[in-house]
Amino acid sequence: MTKPVYKRILLKVSGEVLMGQQPYGIDLDTVGRVADEIIACAATGAQIALVIGGGNIFRGLAGAAKGMDRVSADHMGIMATVMNALAMQGVLSRKGMDARVLSAIAMPTVCETYAHSKGIYHLEQGRVIICAAGTGLPFFTTDTGAALRAAELSCDALFKGTSVDGVYSADPKKDPAARRYDRITFNEILSNDLRIMDPAAIALARDNGIPVVVFSIRKPGAIMEVLSGNGLYTTVTKD
Ligand code: UDP
Repeated sequence: MTKPVYKRILLKVSGEVLMGQQPYGIDLDTVGRVADEIIACAATGAQIALVIGGGNIFRGLAGAAKGMDRVSADHMGIMATVMNALAMQGVLSRKGMDARVLSAIAMPTVCETYAHSKGIYHLEQGRVIICAAGTGLPFFTTDTGAALRAAELSCDALFKGTSVDGVYSADPKKDPAARRYDRITFNEILSNDLRIMDPAAIALARDNGIPVVVFSIRKPGAIMEVLSGNGLYTTVTKD
């Protein structure tokens, strides 16, 4: 069996990935494909914490742009992340993988409330944990929630699944001369404004020494490839 490069990872999946080819919402086939990959990674002995975004359902900034109160709009975005987390938990469980949603906002009749000790306990029991509701606070994103949970749970790396196979010097879809990096530093990301994650998330990962591994989660099998040190990805490190 493939030997994982990292023992405990935090995998950030944006809500948009779960839409598959649909324009909105949750495509269960896509959730199933990502779940299969997570199960394969867990079978190598790696411990996996997930953070799932909510952009496939609702984004606070979009609501605010239409005149909604930003705090209420962000709370709606936070609820969207819980919906995605529940969908993923259901699919993982149906496939035989023990998974627990831990929400940053208490909703005890729906799922467990996030606590550091609970997260560590479930991971050590071999369960996949899904950290829902981001940071639980408006004006933040699930990228920041992912960096926060990665630091709290002492993860060896934050896997940022995107739609491109790494960090580029410019948008490769717009600039054919864009250069892809195998390695880059957090400070280069911040000073060149390479927006792979929001700056707060980058600073949290940098200050806590957690490498961020950027790869295309749309490519089937990519999570396992990257976990075993193969395939295309960019590693973002302190120096
Ligand atoms: N959100 C928030 N605080 C958090 C995490 C998320 O307010 O800690 C809200 C915010 O409105 C955001 C939405 O939830 O637009 C969905 O999260 P995000 O945009 O990070 O999802 P993704 O782009 O990864 O799908």
